[in-house]
Amino acid sequence: MQIFSLILLIAVGLFFGGRFYMQRRRREALLNSSLSPDHCKILRARVPVYAKLPEALRGRLEGLINRFLDEVKFYGGEGLAVTDEMRVTIAAQACLLIVNKPNRWFSSLRTIMVYPAAFKSKLTGVKDHVHSEHETVRSGESWAKGPVILAWDHAAYGAFVIDDGQNVVMHEFAHQLDEQTGQTDGSPLLDADQSASRWARVFQSAYAQLQSDIRAGASNVLDAYGATNPAEFFAVATEVFFERAQELRAQDPDLYAELAQYYRLDPVDWD
Ligand SMILES: [Zn+2]
Repeated sequence: MQIFSLILLIAVGLFFGGRFYMQRRRREALLNSSLSPDHCKILRARVPVYAKLPEALRGRLEGLINRFLDEVKFYGGEGLAVTDEMRVTIAAQACLLIVNKPNRWFSSLRTIMVYPAAFKSKLTGVKDHVHSEHETVRSGESWAKGPVILAWDHAAYGAFVIDDGQNVVMHEFAHQLDEQTGQTDGSPLLDADQSASRWARVFQSAYAQLQSDIRAGASNVLDAYGATNPAEFFAVATEVFFERAQELRAQDPDLYAELAQYYRLDPVDWD
């Protein structure tokens, strides 16, 4: 009986060890692979930032997109048939966030739901001990340990217009990165060489500045939605970091520097 148990244990160990090994090999192969010509064509037509990237980053982005398309399942809402154009356009924008962070992945993401246009979302809240539920119209949502939901028209527009500081896919995937600490609070997992106290100081100051600019009616490169809470601030700052890098660096060099160190990118150089 003991021998039988031992053999069973070894067999189970070999099975899972083998599966893990095969999965790792498959991922490595995908990360080192180029995009198919059809997918490249989609990127060139729909995601202009791709052509602006330095060559080394472009190659890495292609590998990440291939892994993303292999591991993340897309579903269409309201009868939408999800096409390769949608998958590649969305994957490219999401993967741009981690293009220079080789150890980071959207580890809890399995599915993306794509609606044709802005969709209704039921929000539940508690205020003064009264539970309320109301509907709101959204272009995107990121669920903690769950799916990302996107409106295709907004995702496509965000991919195509790369200098307006608005990008719903980057916004929702910044939330995905943020939640990897277990809390979506604007403080994502930092690498060992980045100071958490400096991050907190810089972000709190920029957040307070945005709130006071809104009160004073003063201009700020960050969208007012970023003043909702620190998590939204990080997501909005991410959109602007990638799409209005020059202006963000001019307005708040410290905030730009923290984001540049976090994403290990310098989008100012891409212009
Ligand atoms: Zn958000």
